[in-house]
Amino acid sequence: MPITIRSKLPDIGTTIFTIMSKLAIEHQAINVGQGFPDFDPNPKLVELVHAAMQDGHNQYAFMAGLPALREEIGKKTAALYGHRYNPDTEITITNGATESIMTTILALVGRGDEVIVLEPFYDSYVPAIRLAGGTPITVPMTPPSLLHPQYRIDWQRIRDAITAKTRMLVINFPNNPTGITLESDDLDALESIVANTNIAVLSDEAYEHIVFDGRIHYSIATRKKLAANAIIISSFAKTYHVTGWKIGYCLAPANITSEIRKVHQFNVFSVSSPMQPALAQFMKDPNTYSQLSAFYQKKRDHFTAGLAHSRFKPLASQGTFFLLADYSEISDETEVSFARKLTSEYGVTVIPVAAFYGNPDAPESNHHLVRICFAKKESTLDAALERLRRI
Ligand code: GLN
Repeated sequence: MPITIRSKLPDIGTTIFTIMSKLAIEHQAINVGQGFPDFDPNPKLVELVHAAMQDGHNQYAFMAGLPALREEIGKKTAALYGHRYNPDTEITITNGATESIMTTILALVGRGDEVIVLEPFYDSYVPAIRLAGGTPITVPMTPPSLLHPQYRIDWQRIRDAITAKTRMLVINFPNNPTGITLESDDLDALESIVANTNIAVLSDEAYEHIVFDGRIHYSIATRKKLAANAIIISSFAKTYHVTGWKIGYCLAPANITSEIRKVHQFNVFSVSSPMQPALAQFMKDPNTYSQLSAFYQKKRDHFTAGLAHSRFKPLASQGTFFLLADYSEISDETEVSFARKLTSEYGVTVIPVAAFYGNPDAPESNHHLVRICFAKKESTLDAALERLRRI
């Protein structure tokens, strides 16, 4: 007799990224769905990892991460955002941004606590909140309309969602999946909302180095008052084209970091060793990240221009390596079923934006939008465009 399992996440299946990538393989479709580059990192970075392995960086790294890497992250954050995090007590290297998110939420959220997330949201936030015993409170962003063909944050709705039980507010800008970024007045709004409350801000800034059209990234670290109660999470995955290395980090004041590390040490203990000295060395040169926005802007523009000859309508992407495309001229189907059909019948895999909503089947979650990842070689983008134009 199999034992009875009381599932902690009874209604959660496999992530949409895994489902769509598997479907892409089954149908030999061009995969512009799951967010990962189909090109290699800088060979110099790979050589540095190789050298680190030969130099004996093959046993457990320090629990909080290699000091030299934390040092470099501290220097970079101070230079870019003006906030000096102490590498000893305020910077922790994690198994990708995803582990940072899970560990932070497990450390800070408990039974009865409410955590606000903006919908559409990245898929790991809500399960993490629920595993911690907290209650996710979803606040919708305003969906695109003819007048405003882009998602928008409605700070008033966020303000209205706050109760005495609100423990944390999760934000993610540049935003996956919508591709929108923050402006300075958004930080003003956020600052006024959390001032004199007991609310921590978890800011997922994994796409911090990918912002377009001359925009700058407004990190939470640029505001002293916000940073005092914030956890900033980032990663090397998107910056250095190494999503499979799973190296991320979180920055938080010492009182919060010490709680995060208590969970981190029993979750993964420490993170892959040889990558850490390699990244510490590689990131000393700001050119390794300062050109990334221009690099991806070219790809975004190429793909957006290519869609002009199709019946998809691209929305302007302000950051990340994603853009949203409206398919309402082609079909009335829900996003999930349209995305499946696009893979099985047209050989192009995308992600339905509805999958980033609490209920992907609800009419409020469906706006005839799919998310396309343009972190691909030009040949991949062109092949996808050619197929999309046939529809
Ligand atoms: N962050 C990636 C995306 O949005 C996916 C990561 C994953 O597959 N877990 O597509």
